Amino acid sequence: MTFPNPVPTGLYLDGGWRAAADGASLVVTDPATEERVAEVAAASETDVDAAVESARAGFAAWRRTDPWTRSGVLRRTAELLRAWAAEAAAVMTAEQGKPLAEATAEFLATADQFDWYADEARRVYGRTVDGHSTSQRITVRREPVGVVAAFSAWNFPALLPSRKIAPALAVGCSIIVTAAEEAPLSTQVVAAALHRAGLPAGVLSVLVGDSAAISARLLASPVVRKLSLTGSVPVGRILLHTAADRILKTSMELGGHAPVLVFPDVDVSAVAELCAKAKFRNTGQVCASPSRFVVHESIHAEFVDAFVAATSKLEVGPGSDPNTSVGPLSNARRVAAAEHLVADAVSRGARVAAGGGRDDRFTKGHFFRPTVLTDVPADAAVLHEEPFAPVAPVLTFADLDEALAVANGTELGLASYVFTGDLRTAFLASEGIEAGMVGVNTLALATAEAPFGGVKQSGFGREGGAEGVEDYTTVKYVNMELA
Ligand code: NAD
Repeated sequence: MTFPNPVPTGLYLDGGWRAAADGASLVVTDPATEERVAEVAAASETDVDAAVESARAGFAAWRRTDPWTRSGVLRRTAELLRAWAAEAAAVMTAEQGKPLAEATAEFLATADQFDWYADEARRVYGRTVDGHSTSQRITVRREPVGVVAAFSAWNFPALLPSRKIAPALAVGCSIIVTAAEEAPLSTQVVAAALHRAGLPAGVLSVLVGDSAAISARLLASPVVRKLSLTGSVPVGRILLHTAADRILKTSMELGGHAPVLVFPDVDVSAVAELCAKAKFRNTGQVCASPSRFVVHESIHAEFVDAFVAATSKLEVGPGSDPNTSVGPLSNARRVAAAEHLVADAVSRGARVAAGGGRDDRFTKGHFFRPTVLTDVPADAAVLHEEPFAPVAPVLTFADLDEALAVANGTELGLASYVFTGDLRTAFLASEGIEAGMVGVNTLALATAEAPFGGVKQSGFGREGGAEGVEDYTTVKYVNMELA
């Protein structure tokens, strides 16, 4: 059960870690210090081809492995990840920046994914159907789709790839994961747990490197039968174009811009405090982050006061400091994006009620002060572009229709939230919101037993829940004539 220290830095291929065929590598840096954390192998075309060949052989063997055995590997993986959570969290914090408590929670949630799919592996049900004639027997089965190519973002570098690895392995697929190059070590911790749990060679490969080049090569291979991405809408669009050439089965977990509708019949201060804590979790870099606070006009002032007060209590600092509640942004690009959103809103008349820019107490690192904006005009970029930053706009509404119009006013539809004490409002609001997920009187949505995913440009496919296996299986129907 000992933690793999140091975490492997090679490519995980054919059941072991190895250097890139051409010796190439890339440097992983700490977002809090901008110092080097590790140097990891960067995949060449030869390595991508080796992963494809390995996954082809891995699939042939794994699909014939019985579900109880597959389940056992996933269960042991969950146990290892729980045992390793504290040490693994330190690795994640160093490469991704989030506070240690959040990193620990992520590894525990990652373990939940493997636990959940250890059970689902044995529950991939088909059905029988009575046909037109009495001599006909119709059966419907789910079969593994085949070799999967998976890409995911750096904001949850253990959980996001695991939401793909666990269901794929549960149903008998093999999978090639391209780890986010900003935070590949956390993904390697997951690979190490699977390796230690007895996963046969070839069933999982982990590549790191230029993901555009890797995806182009992988998706061109006839061996790959399924693409799954967790990333931004623009990258989703690129990969869907590529997938169209090969008519690949695809899942897209893309961006979000979650509205939070706050009705006047709630404990306003308590809801505002909850919202501030949730908004700045992972420094706002969460696809399901509450990111547009749409508050009834009668409670707007009280909500803003309480939200700003709760925001000012948050401690910005390195994730490795146990007192930190908001770590650095993951990279310099995200700081520039946050600055752009604030400057754009202010230039259109918005007011900065808290924060507003970089945290100047730090000479190194990508620190940005938790920011609250009010009086934000409807055309401000922060209301349309996914912020993925610690910037919280607070808006008002007069009635339910207006609240829903604001909530549904973007092309994104991932998470959404409603706070109300009234059952009728809860139903009408949650039914009227265009989103894949609604939290009513809670900001917690991501959990292994429920289907996570979006509508509109937030994508399609679901990760978790009983639905999670559907994306990795195809349906085969057999009509047997007995006459
Ligand atoms: P991104 O789309 O730029 O990158 C996502 C991943 O895809 C990264 O590993 C990146 O290296 C890789 N990638 C980039 N270009 C690629 C290409 N041409 N081919 C293949 N892979 C490529 O997104 P990002 O900025 O790294 O991550 C943030 C985005 O991810 C946000 O939009 C966020 O909402 C989204 N996200 C969605 C979910 C969800 O479950 N819906 C969860 C977390 C993050």
